[in-house]
Amino acid sequence: MSTTQPNVIQPDCDVVVVGAGFAGIYALWQARQRGFSVRGFERGSDVGGTWYWNAYPGARCDVESYNYAYFFDDDIVRDWDWSDACAEQGEIKRYLRFVAERCDVLRDITFDAQVLAARYDEAAGLWTLSTAAGETVVCRYAILAIGALSDPKAPDIEGVDDFAGPAWFTSSWPRDGSVDLTGKRVGVIGTGSSGVQVIPEVAKVAAEVHVFQRTANYVTPVRSGPMDPAVVARLREDPQAVRQAFRETYGGHMPLDMGDERFVELDEAGRQRALDRAWAGKYIDLAFKDAYLPEANAAISDYIRRKMQEVVDDPWTAEHLVPWDHPYGGKRPCMSNVYLQTYNLPHVHLVDLRETPIERILPEGIRTSTQTIPLDVIVYATGFDAISGPVFAIDISGLDGRSMKDAWADGPKNYLGTMVHGFPNLFLPSSALSPSVLANMATLAEQQVDFIFDTIEWLDGQGRPRLHPLPESEEHWRAETLRYAARRPGALTTKSWYSGANIPGKPRIFMVYCGGFKRYNETCYRELEEGFPGYELMAPPRPG
Ligand code: NAP
Repeated sequence: MSTTQPNVIQPDCDVVVVGAGFAGIYALWQARQRGFSVRGFERGSDVGGTWYWNAYPGARCDVESYNYAYFFDDDIVRDWDWSDACAEQGEIKRYLRFVAERCDVLRDITFDAQVLAARYDEAAGLWTLSTAAGETVVCRYAILAIGALSDPKAPDIEGVDDFAGPAWFTSSWPRDGSVDLTGKRVGVIGTGSSGVQVIPEVAKVAAEVHVFQRTANYVTPVRSGPMDPAVVARLREDPQAVRQAFRETYGGHMPLDMGDERFVELDEAGRQRALDRAWAGKYIDLAFKDAYLPEANAAISDYIRRKMQEVVDDPWTAEHLVPWDHPYGGKRPCMSNVYLQTYNLPHVHLVDLRETPIERILPEGIRTSTQTIPLDVIVYATGFDAISGPVFAIDISGLDGRSMKDAWADGPKNYLGTMVHGFPNLFLPSSALSPSVLANMATLAEQQVDFIFDTIEWLDGQGRPRLHPLPESEEHWRAETLRYAARRPGALTTKSWYSGANIPGKPRIFMVYCGGFKRYNETCYRELEEGFPGYELMAPPRPG
């Protein structure tokens, strides 16, 4: 006889994973490995996450591909060859598909399925997730692997809908090759990492390019070209040792040519030599071990400004492309070997919006305070409602029906970057107050998913209590995040998406934990070893 009673909600599976990027794919694999039943939902038509949507020309990773990759499986490390030290978007997307096929998780994923709501039933101890198509699924554990930069910022410019020509967003660029900018007059708004990558590609084919820049960014060289086979062989020798070693570092990776000197300990000639070597070696922020301490950071900032100016022929353009208003690292630095050089082309023009702001978009182009620039196409490289945006895109309600929007009304709060008070058994990898975008996201995806499943296994081993962090743990963690941010030059003084400053009305709180990957990992696992003292363990729901 069945013990199931009518009207009692039953789970469809143990775990639901939303999102099929780096974290989502690995979470699906982990679930299966550990014997949990699992369903995945992905709003795109394929795996890839960020690397599915951001298909604009020039999109590539500026973290070395041999760091920005999975290391959980030796065969995957050994069987995938990166064609470039910093792979382009299509290659990373193919890699993620390759991993998903290898791990046999594609069968678990429902594609073109956007999850719109997640509701917790306290009595049953279960989450119910609903998709835009009306499907619902009930589970014990929900993992929202929805990324930190997956909710595009709506352009806050008057007249956006008036423009007569096509407008494209870097964050949702058509993947079918249908965009043809050949011979067109193109306006590009935004000069962050996406703008810096797309602008040189637009300039290759367009008749005229007008770049609308509000804030200049640091742009330094990036590694490119094939990897040294000896380095690849070394990485493949013992992938698990590499994986462990990444977790012992500050940034969750081990870039090549990392400087091992301290700026403060070098004389003037030594400092210059180290900077020149770093510039040629492509990762200037790694010139010194103390690159993010004020003295070294100031010298690095000055050095980059000088080098940037040297590249650009026109003195006015050179002066205006240089970020004078914030130190290196205050905003996410950009990398490119061709961006600055693009401004030496006669058909590429910089419009500095600090001097001549956009007044409105017209059917025929963009009007600034001094001129109307006629355009055929507008490209928006205007960024994202970062970190909390993707979370708010889902209507999440937890204990007592409290919404996540309410819980995060003053900015994100959580403990250890993954769990929120009042939302038991809900996990948010790659989200707020974790090393996220200031670390290697691939390493973070593996670390957080490992931690989440170690937590779930622990809970199951204890008779399935429900887990959520104590409010005081959240307060402590937020304070820790701000304490480390205060040490980082420019972190709390620069207007950036790190602190929500790019979205009008968004609470200003620095959202990235910069205490380092090693410390983060150790803090997570200390909780697990000590039986989760920073959390409340709610009694398991009564059966039936
Ligand atoms: P972003 O860094 O936020 O840049 C958006 C740009 O648009 C900024 O220059 C911003 O100016 C400008 N903007 C926004 N609204 C505007 C307005 N109303 N008028 C004029 N200008 C406006 O966004 P993103 O370039 O897409 O990059 C986001 C993040 O994605 C990066 O920081 C990085 O973490 C990641 N990413 C990584 C790579 C990679 O190579 N690994 C590549 C692309 C992106 P303000 O600065 O003045 O706000």
